[in-house]
Amino acid sequence: SFERQAPEADAEELARRHLVQPWPYAGSIGSEARGLIGSGDGIYVTDGEGRRLIDGPAGMWCVNAGHRREELAGVMYEQAMRLSYNTPWYTMNEPSAVLAERIAAHAPGDLSHVFFTTGGSSAVESALRFMQFYNNVRGWPEKKLLLSRGGAYHGSTYLSASLNGRPRDRDWMDVADGLVVKLSSPDPFRRPEGMTVEAFADQLVDEFAETVARIGADKIGAFVGEPVQASGGVIVPPPGYLPRIREICRDNDILYVSDEVVTGFGRLGEIFASQDVFGIDPDIITFAKGVTSGYFPLGGMLVSERLLADLRRSNHPDAMYAHGLTYTSHPVGCAVALANLDLLEGGILDHARAVAPYFQERLKTLEELPLVGEVRGVGLMACVECVADRESNDPLKLDYEVGKRIDAHCHSLGLLVRPLIHMCVMSPPLIISRSQIDDMVAILREGI
Ligand code: PLP
Repeated sequence: SFERQAPEADAEELARRHLVQPWPYAGSIGSEARGLIGSGDGIYVTDGEGRRLIDGPAGMWCVNAGHRREELAGVMYEQAMRLSYNTPWYTMNEPSAVLAERIAAHAPGDLSHVFFTTGGSSAVESALRFMQFYNNVRGWPEKKLLLSRGGAYHGSTYLSASLNGRPRDRDWMDVADGLVVKLSSPDPFRRPEGMTVEAFADQLVDEFAETVARIGADKIGAFVGEPVQASGGVIVPPPGYLPRIREICRDNDILYVSDEVVTGFGRLGEIFASQDVFGIDPDIITFAKGVTSGYFPLGGMLVSERLLADLRRSNHPDAMYAHGLTYTSHPVGCAVALANLDLLEGGILDHARAVAPYFQERLKTLEELPLVGEVRGVGLMACVECVADRESNDPLKLDYEVGKRIDAHCHSLGLLVRPLIHMCVMSPPLIISRSQIDDMVAILREGI
């Protein structure tokens, strides 16, 4: 019944005047034109001109259950009417406890406890600060360096952003470089010419082992890695590589942090991909996005009982993990995440597993196009990479970003694309049907 006063200009104009959008160039910061999205329904969104578009990236890899789910919106309303907020500092709420139990039940190994955050960056930041705390309490104050890889994306807070691998994410920003050691991206498409994928995996594992030996395990606190590098261009690592890295970490008391902000909650057909898809049992899993299908900003880190037991047994029972967010364990976020888990377990995961091969197979046909160097992916995430030519496979560089150009074409044809320089990433809502996949691929083909 609340009538909002009509704004004095349309939303796009107000945004140009007053919004700082994410990832702007300095030349347009605070004055950027971005297309309005007005509403969503299922796998579709509607733009400012009323045009219906397939939401190819599911928002930002997050609207896993699809837009306009009454089950999710209704639960948020009910929870807000029951309890809209409580302080996590010295009280707790029921939805967060029930959700932690439900999430832990899906987790590999002895991952048993959840610290809830407001999204992925704060989940990764929480994990890194936990490692620092853990090693301080255990008497290893020198064991703090972080291992990360080219192509990685872990967030936009200071420590999480320091792990990011793409140069343009770092070039103009200050990052904690002294804390991070960079390793190669496990990108089979960019492996040395003539090398088999198996030999490439060996090379990556050797690089990891040699780095640990050179720097010393007593200096390295954690390895942080996405099971599939998402924003790096859907880099699916070579078979067997992740379990071998996991073993090196275990042997050297290096915490293995698996960043499942994108891969978790159904994107690869499972709640968590670490064990169920890649056969690893990390010390910590970070998650966000799909946990609420994007209906509420929620994330978390899932930590192992072993690490918590080490802390409880330590010589410093009074040491404080001085870390918490006002919105830790937010009741509305946790309630909608519970309803979202019901949807995922109630059929969406099965559907995602069933359509994934078709999704990959149809997209793969785009390799027929001369601009396309490779289409790769797993589950319901995929990347179309454009190359200058098939001989060199050099990224296609023109005086404009190819991905943005393809996105603009596809937009006019009814599809939103996530452009990543010379790549297009596709990660639609998990409820997408086979005929909708056909529509998506047909538009993408024409757009390219
Ligand atoms: N980790 C990964 C793998 C991501 O892809 C992202 C965001 O895309 C983040 C962390 C950061 O999450 P957020 O943007 O919710 O802070």
